[in-house]
Amino acid sequence: MERTYGRNKGNIMKFVCPKCNGTKLEEVMKYVTVSSKINDVGEGGDINYGEQSNEDGEVDFYQCLDCGEELVWDDGTTVESNEELYDWLKEHNMI
Ligand SMILES: [Zn+2]
Repeated sequence: MERTYGRNKGNIMKFVCPKCNGTKLEEVMKYVTVSSKINDVGEGGDINYGEQSNEDGEVDFYQCLDCGEELVWDDGTTVESNEELYDWLKEHNMI
């Protein structure tokens, strides 16, 4: 299915967690390469990190930032892409 994201510009997501009513949504990614600047290394290898950058990766799942409830469809399958996330929010009248 083809979608035009531009058409939906200006929409404001109103995520509400089905479990705790929290309103913060978090994306959890996997296979991400994280590069971190090392500012200092302390005793025993205790590293003080500076700037971090993330590369690559793909969505693992979406979850409520407050309680960790994963976004799933009615049949229990995980919402695992940005396109699915949009459909999920749409279906739950959150966008
Ligand atoms: Zn929640």
